[in-house]
Amino acid sequence: MEMYELLKELFPICRSITGEGVRKTLAIISRYVPELKVTEIPSGTQCFDWTIPEEWNIKSAFIRAPDGRIIADFAKNNLHVLSYSIPVEGYFSLEELNQHLYSDESRPGAIPYRTSYYERRWGFCISHNERLSLKAGNYYVKIDSELKNGSLTIADAIIPGEIRKEIFFSCYLCHPSMADDSLSGVVLAARLYEHFKNRKNQHTFRFIFVPETIGAIAYLHKHGKEMKRNTNCGIVLTCLGAEGEFNYKKTRQGKHELDRIMENVLKHSNHKYKIYDFFLPGSDERQYSSPGFALPVGALMHSYYSIPKYHSSEDNLDNVSEKCLQESFDVLRKTAEALDENCKYKTLKPYCEPFLSKYDLCGSVGANVSMQESRKRIMYLLNFSDGYHSLLDIAEKGNFELLNLADTAKLLESKGLLKKMKGDMK
Ligand code: ZN
Repeated sequence: MEMYELLKELFPICRSITGEGVRKTLAIISRYVPELKVTEIPSGTQCFDWTIPEEWNIKSAFIRAPDGRIIADFAKNNLHVLSYSIPVEGYFSLEELNQHLYSDESRPGAIPYRTSYYERRWGFCISHNERLSLKAGNYYVKIDSELKNGSLTIADAIIPGEIRKEIFFSCYLCHPSMADDSLSGVVLAARLYEHFKNRKNQHTFRFIFVPETIGAIAYLHKHGKEMKRNTNCGIVLTCLGAEGEFNYKKTRQGKHELDRIMENVLKHSNHKYKIYDFFLPGSDERQYSSPGFALPVGALMHSYYSIPKYHSSEDNLDNVSEKCLQESFDVLRKTAEALDENCKYKTLKPYCEPFLSKYDLCGSVGANVSMQESRKRIMYLLNFSDGYHSLLDIAEKGNFELLNLADTAKLLESKGLLKKMKGDMK
């Protein structure tokens, strides 16, 4: 699958935390994730301290200026409507209308993205330039929206592995037409699903597609207990499609295996990157890492929240590319594979180094790495595989990429030099 093509198809849909936009999005995702399980949670359901809100849907919205010009047309850009706007129809003076307009002075050409999920109001988002051009007079306003007792839609897909321990990916699908924030994570989740579905995994993989915050809270309300029991770690996917250096936000735990492996992968990639300690606010890692669950969850971003295009009409299809999505995919795939491969070995020749020439190792360690490098990996593995050091420990000691080291360990195992420690995945 080409991720950009999928993103382009999802881009025009008007999503919010509830409603048909989320369902439509999930229906498209299910073409790539056939096992996607969609669950509806009725409005009014209590999830911890939160109540599932009414479901919001919208057909059309616009403002007609006194000169007959249509401004803020929902059909042209769904960002024009304050998400969760109540319906309205009538004439308003410019002064009255101004109470319901949202614009961003710092980005005067962009339509900002604004929401009002939990307070009933109506509003329009327009560029600051457009706002400044509005003249006094009577404006005709119409928002054809509906708030009703419906449901919140969440979805997941699980790929069972050899063990119950899980690695999960979580993305959110509540943003309307923005490309990098939200949607890039959604297409990455679908692509990662496709990859790990076709791989033999030790870990179980879980893919979570939810509206941000309330969706993650509802998901944890339903699945939090089993996740607390089974989770090794999780990664929140967002802002993975725009140009920029990689930014990794560590788990709340800080020195978790995931944090170390992500650093290992980034260090051995050709990309610029920065690593941050866990901080708030951020996205759904806040819910997964809340103290009751305390799941180790990190977040990878290609560019840091696509600043300065974040939450505006400038975060459009030109802001993301297949190249950046692919780079993000490679980092995430390698990280998850390394997590899946990390284990401890024990040497079967602990008394002095084995006589390597006997084992026909040199020709079979891969043509793309220098002999010196592969010999160094072999020496580190034979020395540190004492049953205490994991592949990750050894990779850090010798400055190796963990996945390469895992390949060499398998080779040494096939030659009877190493033995994988049973029942000790970590
Ligand atoms: Zn956002």
